[in-house]
Formats: sequence, structure tokens, C-alpha cells
Amino acid sequence: MKSRIGIRGRLFIAFGLVVIMTVVTGMIGWLSYSKLGESLHQVVQTNIPTMSLVAELSERGAAITGIAPALAVAEDELEREKIWALLFENLQGMDALLVTAGDSPDDVPVQGSLTSLVESLTSNLRELDENVRRRLWYRSIKEEQTQRLRWISADFLDEVEPMIDDTQFNIEVRLNQANAVGSKILIGAGKQDFNVASVNQQALFRIKADGNLLTGLIGRAPYLPDYESLRASELYLHEVQSRLYEDLAVVEGIAGSLSLHQSLEDILGFASGEQSLFDQRREELEILLIGKQLLERNRKLIEQLNHLISTRVERARDVAAKETLRSQQSIGRGKLWMLITVSASLILSVAIVWLYVGRSMVGRIARLDTSMLAIADGYLETEVPVEGSDEISDMAMALRTFRDQLLETQAELVQAGKLAALGQLSAGIAHEINQPLAAIRHYARNGEKFYQRGNHAEVQGNLEKISELSERVHGVIKQLNSMARKPSKGLYQVDLAEVIQNVLLLLEGTVKSCGAKIKISIDPDSQKVLAGQLRLEQVMLNLLTNALHAIENEDEKIVSISASLQRNQVELSIHDTGPGVTEEYQKHVFDPFFTTKEIGKGLGLGLPISYNIIRDFGGSLSLDTNRDGGATFRISLLRE
Ligand code: ADP
Repeated sequence: MKSRIGIRGRLFIAFGLVVIMTVVTGMIGWLSYSKLGESLHQVVQTNIPTMSLVAELSERGAAITGIAPALAVAEDELEREKIWALLFENLQGMDALLVTAGDSPDDVPVQGSLTSLVESLTSNLRELDENVRRRLWYRSIKEEQTQRLRWISADFLDEVEPMIDDTQFNIEVRLNQANAVGSKILIGAGKQDFNVASVNQQALFRIKADGNLLTGLIGRAPYLPDYESLRASELYLHEVQSRLYEDLAVVEGIAGSLSLHQSLEDILGFASGEQSLFDQRREELEILLIGKQLLERNRKLIEQLNHLISTRVERARDVAAKETLRSQQSIGRGKLWMLITVSASLILSVAIVWLYVGRSMVGRIARLDTSMLAIADGYLETEVPVEGSDEISDMAMALRTFRDQLLETQAELVQAGKLAALGQLSAGIAHEINQPLAAIRHYARNGEKFYQRGNHAEVQGNLEKISELSERVHGVIKQLNSMARKPSKGLYQVDLAEVIQNVLLLLEGTVKSCGAKIKISIDPDSQKVLAGQLRLEQVMLNLLTNALHAIENEDEKIVSISASLQRNQVELSIHDTGPGVTEEYQKHVFDPFFTTKEIGKGLGLGLPISYNIIRDFGGSLSLDTNRDGGATFRISLLRE
């Protein structure tokens, strides 16, 4: 057996496809997001640590740049230590950062330089610190030396001033001696003493002044700004020194000259040798110069550090930009693919709904529905299209079988109707012919007797009666002949009045025996209808027979036939004054085999057959249920 995919299977496949597309779309979205996630992870893994590394390095570098000059100008040990502690903390921080920083191969060159740079910076700052320490040491030494110089200078003054006082005393003694002898001029030993004292005094005055000058020159030396000034000051000092030695030679021998000489030597001790304030100042100046150089180097190192940091930042930015671009491209590709799959899924859905559900399924169901409605309306010749191979085609096949069965049943009904009509007709014929035949038999028998008696006149009369009755029988047979003609299938113009006339002729006997009154009213414009003459006569025969039957036992026995034009159709109504159709039976009168007549009198086929015939004409037959009293059947027919 050929395997078949039903509607369920097809819908399953169709929606399966849509689901697959949806899953593919979802997967594409998922892939895009995971790629994006990878890129973000990459950025987070590489860039963020790098950024935070460089940011912290930069911060520490900036701190060092800010603090280092303060170290260079630290005023005392405490301040230096504090500043150094701060610098050291930042240096250690930098070291720690470089140790813990990510070791991605990308970073190695830069990190290498950073490490060596931080090392250089550390050693530079250590040197600077050492330099500051020495500078501070020189400063403390300088103050101490200067203090000592001041004390020695005070000693020197303590030495020289009494000596000056002594010489002054000697001079005054000589002058008083001269005044005592009344001479204004010193002579002899007195004069010599006076002169010696005077020379000594002048020498001592110069010594005092030069000693002070010496102290001043030496004392200022630690504060001289440069080597040149030191050199100039030293030269001047040597000049003063040699003058002093000359003056010391003058006063040599007087009391106190030795200790004076010694105290001057003590002062001069600060201008040369180990205690030389000049040499110390030179060394201090050199330290200051080195400090400046170290500070400058520090500045350069920090500059390099900043440069390296900015290079690293630049690189990190490049990587971030690359990753961002990659992410954007991946998002773009994801979007495109999602758009493609969503569009494909949409097109597929629309195609399924439009082509399969809409055109194939709904279209076929709609066509089947039309066929079903037509069949339900009685158009049994309606084509039932059998398309495809699924449940709908099964339904179509079933409908087709049902329609064929209906057609068969209808044919059988028509056949049965025909037989019934034939029965009715036979009864009518029998009735119509038996009567004259019986009369003919009676007149013949009587005629025979009259003939035997020789009563020729009576014989003549009976023969005439027989001839009349034969004519009547002939008339009936003539009608039967016209009924026997095969009704043509085609429709043509039929004269309504002629049809009614023919039928009434057939029913003449019945009408008479019943005593019915037939009223006919046909509008001139509704005389011609589109029908088949014999079939319309058959319908009229049925309806009028029923009407005559209905009025059989009524006092008023009227059958009215009228025809008028209604909405471009000819409406023919047959009304009788019978008991009418009860409400209960109204909906059954057109059912085949429905009859209220006693067995043998009615088959219940007259109305259903009539109904079908009128419908074949494109018209309709109905029972008017609105009118009171009697029954009214309406036939609606197309005009010619
Ligand atoms: P039949 O005449 O053989 O019974 P029909 O199909 O012609 O079959 O009529 C069906 C039934 O409809 C009748 O038995 C009768 O009950 C009812 N009927 C038809 N015409 C009339 C009428 N003019 N007045 C009352 N009842 C009628």
C-alpha cells in the first residue's frame, strides 16, 4: 500500500521546519552573544588589568614626581625621613604592581622596560636621599663650625683688646711722664717706649680689625653661593692672613702675643685643612649640584615612565578598539544571519499558511463546502473535485459516494414516482374506460335483445350510444398517448393555459363526479413559462388531483388556479377549499412516501416528484403556510 502523509503529518513537517528555523535563529543569536561575550572577556582579561596597572603606575609616578623635589629641599632629618618613607612606599607599590601585573606575552617588552625603569627610579631616589642626607649633615656641621668660630673669635677679641688697652696704658704713661717734666717732646728712652707702644698699638688695632675680617670671611664662606666667590674670598683671606702675620711679627714679644697668635691660628684653622669651611662649602656645593642633577634625572625617569605608561595605554586602547571592532563585526554578522533566518522562517510560515493551509487546505475545503452545499440544495449533478491525497480528499471521495448514492436513490424515487403515476393513471384509465365499456356492454346486450325482437329503432339508438361511448374512450386514449410521449429534457416556452386545459381534460371525470368548481385566472403577461410541457402537466395533474381529493368531502368545493408575474417570475398558485395541511404535516408533505391517504390510494410520491421537476425547470414549488382555510401550493417559474 502506498504510504501517505496526512494533514497532521504535513502540518507537523511544516511547523517542524518553522521550529527548526526558529532554533537556528536562536542558535545564531546564541553564537553571536557568546562571541561578543568572548570579546568582552578578552577586553576584561587583558585591558582592564592593564588599564588599572597603568593608572596606578601613573598615580604612583605622579606622587613620586610631586614628592621628589620636596626630598631635595628637606630642611631636616625628620622631614627627610618622612619624605623618603613616602617615596619608598610609592616605589614599593610600583614594584608590587609590576610583580602582580598580568604576564601576557603582549606585555613583556613594555613590562621589561617598566621594571628596569622603576629600578632606575629607585636607585636614583636612593642616591637623592643619600645626597640630601649628606647635605643635611654638612649643614649641621656648618652650623657647629660657625658656632665654634664665633667662640674662637670671641676668645681672639678677649686676647687682643687687653693688649690694646695695655699699649694704650703704656702710651699714656709716657705722655704723662713727658707732661710731668714739662716737656712737650718725649726724648730718649721715653720716646722710644712711646714709639714702640704706639707701633704695637697700631699693629694690634690692625690685628683686631683683620682678625674680625678673617672671622667674617671664614664665617661667610659656608654661605657663599658658588666656587668663584669662595675662590675670591679665599684669595682675600690669604691677603689678610699675610698682613696679619706681618702685624703679629710687630707685636711679637709683647705680653699675650703668643696666645693672640694661637687664637688667630685657631681662626685660620677654619680656613684650611680638615676643618676648612671653604672646603666644606665646596663639598656642599658639589652635593647640591649632584642633588640637582639627581632631581633632573628623576624628572627624566618619571618622564620616561609616563611615556611608557602612555605607550601602554595606547596599546591597551588599540587592543580595546580592535576587540570592539571585532565585537561590532560579530554583532553585525549575527544580526545579518538572524535577519536572514527570521526572514526565511517568516517566508516559510507565510508560504505554509498561504500555499498549503490557504490554497491547498482551505481552498480545497471551501470547494468541498461549495459542493456539499450544492448537493444539500439538491443539485446532485454537482462535480465533487477530489484533489491531493489526504483527509480532505477522503472527505471528497466520501461526498462523491454519498452524492452517487443520492443520485441512485433519486432515480429510484423517480422510478417509483413514475410507477405510482402509472398506477394512478391506470386507475384513472380503468375508471374512464371501464365505465363506457360497461355501458357499451349494456347497450350491446340490449341492442341484441332489441334486434331479436325486431325493434330496430331501439337498436339504432343503442348503436348511437355505443358510438358515443367509443368516442369518449378514444378521447381518453388520445390523452394517454400525449402523456406517453417521452418528455424532452430541454426547456422551452410552454403555454400555461394549454397545460391547465390538458390536465383538466384528463381530470374531467373526477371533477364532474366530485362536483368541484374550477376557477382559472391567468394574467396575460404570465402566460408563457420556461418548462417542459409534459412534465409541467404531470405536476399540475398531481396538484389538482390532491386538491380534488381534499375537497371531496367539503361543502364548498372550489379549486382556484391563478398565475401572475412576481419579480419577473411567473407565480402559479393552486388553492383549494379543502381542510388544508395541518401544521404538523406541513414540513413533511414534500418528503417521499409521506401520505395521509389510505393504503392503495396514495403513495406519497406526487409532491416530491413535482418538487424535483419544478426545480429542474429552475423554479420552485412550495406550500403556502400563511393562508387560512384550504391548501395553497405555489409554483414559481422562469418566464420564457
Ligand atoms: P399522495 O397524494 O399519494 O398522498 P402526495 O405527495 O401527492 O402523495 O401528497 C402527500 C400528502 O400531502 C397527501 O397524502 C396529503 O396528506 C397532503 N396533501 C397534498 N395536497 C393536499 C391538499 N391540497 N390538501 C390537503 N392535504 C394535501
